[in-house]
Amino acid sequence: MRSLRLKMVLVMILMVACLMLVMVTFLTSRVVSFYMTEFYEQMEQSFTTGFLQQLQSIAAQSMDETAGAEQLKELVMAQSDMGIDISDRNVYILAQDGRVLAGSNSETMLHTTPNLLTAMSGFVGQQSAMMDRYMDLAVPITGGEYSYIVYVLDNRNTVNELTGEIVQIILSALGLGLAFCIALSVILSQIIIAPIERLTHGTQRVASGDFSEKIEVSSRDEIGTLTQSFNHMAQVLQDTLAEVENERGKLETLFLHMTDGVVAFDTNGQLIHSNPAAVTMLRTSQREMYYDRLFGEISPLKDLLKLQRPQFVEGSMQVGDLELELSLAPFSTEAAGGVIAVIHDVTEQRRAEQTRKEFVANVSHELRTPLTNIKSYAETIVQTGDELPPELHQSFMGVILGETDRMTRIVQDLLTLSRFDSGRMEMNFTRFDFRQSVQSVCKAEELDAQHHDHTLTLHDGPTATIHGDRNRIEQVIMNILSNAIKYTPDGGKIDVYTGIKGHMVWIRVKDTGIGIPEKDLPRLFERFYRVDKARSRESGGTGLGLSIAQEILRLHNGDIRIESVYGAGTTVTVLLPIAQEDLP
Ligand code: ADP
Repeated sequence: MRSLRLKMVLVMILMVACLMLVMVTFLTSRVVSFYMTEFYEQMEQSFTTGFLQQLQSIAAQSMDETAGAEQLKELVMAQSDMGIDISDRNVYILAQDGRVLAGSNSETMLHTTPNLLTAMSGFVGQQSAMMDRYMDLAVPITGGEYSYIVYVLDNRNTVNELTGEIVQIILSALGLGLAFCIALSVILSQIIIAPIERLTHGTQRVASGDFSEKIEVSSRDEIGTLTQSFNHMAQVLQDTLAEVENERGKLETLFLHMTDGVVAFDTNGQLIHSNPAAVTMLRTSQREMYYDRLFGEISPLKDLLKLQRPQFVEGSMQVGDLELELSLAPFSTEAAGGVIAVIHDVTEQRRAEQTRKEFVANVSHELRTPLTNIKSYAETIVQTGDELPPELHQSFMGVILGETDRMTRIVQDLLTLSRFDSGRMEMNFTRFDFRQSVQSVCKAEELDAQHHDHTLTLHDGPTATIHGDRNRIEQVIMNILSNAIKYTPDGGKIDVYTGIKGHMVWIRVKDTGIGIPEKDLPRLFERFYRVDKARSRESGGTGLGLSIAQEILRLHNGDIRIESVYGAGTTVTVLLPIAQEDLP
């Protein structure tokens, strides 16, 4: 009973059968009732008052019961209106007690019908039921010595034959109807069921995620409209799915490449998703990511799940050398809920803050020292007045001037750096020969080197033209050379080499000085960083020279490398790109 086709066939068969049944019942009952009406009309027409009187007079004159009965029979049979045909309709003359005295056939035993009983009790019996197998009329005839009953009995053969014929016809019609039903079901299946089946296959295809084909709309009826609506729905669904997929793709890419870590847990604290940044920051594998293990101390999961949007919990944690800040918030969908953690790596930020604080402290400190010196020397001069010997006065004034120069240098270097930081540094780019710059710096520093009994040697190598700010480049070379002079005990050896490597020209300053401990090497370019503060200050250093040199080289796409053996000497190499036109 699952197939619609079978149901339709059954319904049609039932309909045809019901129709036939109604027709059979209706037609047979109409035929029976017609014949009955006709029978009793015929009887009424025959048994007129005159005819009854005739019958009564025969009965009254009758001397012998049987002879009288025979006479009565003859008279009745002569009445052609009654349609007595001996085979189907017969007439009997009965005695009052029901004995058959005479009859149109040889029947001697008659069934005692209600009409016969009525006549026996002296009345005319003229009623038949539809369901009876006969029609009869019993008329009592009285008036003489013998009383008779004229009894007309129709065995309904004609009626039965006719109704049988009707039933036969209708049964054949039923057979035809059934054949018609089957034929109709084939047509119906073409018209209704085939499109429904197509629609069913279409929905199954769409349900399995295949949107490639549309269902063919083959009619304009309700099924056609349904198919159209379904096609539209499938299209909308496909568009929506594509949109969702697109959004998912965007989110996935975002999660994949975002610098913040994102981790999602379900309500049991099990990992749902985590992006690569989170794995890197938390320094753990995805298999070991449980809420309680990672963030349980910041906020218990059950407390977090009770929060309402847009509430969230903030926290921080330390993983190795990383400082992480996190926001934890619950999320819920209709299907499930959980917690999302967004992790932000603030290590660099904190370091930058620290550097800034240190820088401000350094600046204050660097400026305060010369200021204190200036103040104390100036105060001494003021307090002692003329009592101060002229040589001391002169020396104090020298210190004050020296400290003022130092402050000016610091302020100037800071200004230079701040210009580099803000990108406002004006550079005057020209083309010039690198060797010439090296030579002029070496010349300028020669006196200072001699002053410290250093042997300064320039080993001229190949040279090239560079495109840059000559003064700034010379400032860099000068800084490196003066560092070599400063940080080499008197009587040292300083060698300057130049050369070309690939598309770069280089200068290398090698000294036999105090060297730099390995741990300090990475920090040399930090502002105010000095290995030996006292020595640097003594020799007029600000701790900003290498920072400025690095900034200048950055703007020239150059590079600076420092190698050193503590206690043995330092080698500083500066590389600069050769001007385009000068490239080999
Ligand atoms: P400063 O003004 O103190 O020389 P720099 O930025 O030029 O500042 O140098 C930073 C620090 O690096 C110096 O204080 C010194 O400790 C170290 N340094 C630089 N060059 C040399 C060198 N040739 N030999 C030893 N130490 C050096």
